[in-house]
Amino acid sequence: MRMEKERNDVVAFGNKLISAGLTTGTGGNVSVFNRKQGLVAVSPSALDYADTRPQDVVLVSPEGEVVEGTRKPSSETPLHLAHYRVRPDVCGIAHTHSVFATTIATLRWEIPPMHYLVAFSGKKVPLAPYATHGTEELARVTSEAIGDSNAVLMANHGLIALGVDLAAAFATAEIVELMAQIYYQAKSIGEPVNLTDAEMDDVLAGFADYGQGK
Ligand code: 13P
Ligand code: ZN
Repeated sequence: MRMEKERNDVVAFGNKLISAGLTTGTGGNVSVFNRKQGLVAVSPSALDYADTRPQDVVLVSPEGEVVEGTRKPSSETPLHLAHYRVRPDVCGIAHTHSVFATTIATLRWEIPPMHYLVAFSGKKVPLAPYATHGTEELARVTSEAIGDSNAVLMANHGLIALGVDLAAAFATAEIVELMAQIYYQAKSIGEPVNLTDAEMDDVLAGFADYGQGK
């Protein structure tokens, strides 16, 4: 079986979507792009995460052709592939229906820089226009709206988060959900104060050295 590590990541992070409360049922999907091999490992469509085994993960070409696997690939495969095309820095993607992010997306709002951790996405979490789930149209409008952010809210649907690997994409999806919850709560009792562009520049510069190093 090719791409064992990528398949294992898809299974592990699919399960984490459920355990972290970022999606319910078979909603959402995850993928890993091995750019050297030119293959994307994507979660199978409509299969419970708990029942998904590495051999259920589907390998597709960047054009969307199934290269290995007996399952139907995620219906949002075009959405994942469109983001890999526009963002050569990205090798992992998580799409979620997390409750607070989706709440903001049903209002068709963006998440402004009202907390420094919005910088996980960028200077904001932008909003993509509505299009039907699983369509090329959704892939197009969402990948156009994301710009250089690492996450974008999908109107009346959910969220997509990008990363250098699936762990980074998952971490961004988790933080964006926290940001959406804080934004919702702040909006319920007042008007949150946004950080300035210069303050967000400082946060982003600080993120470059955050961590234990490697
Ligand atoms: P799949 O089960 O086909 O991955 O679809 C879930 C989803 O979130 C559709 O937008
Ligand atoms: Zn979805």
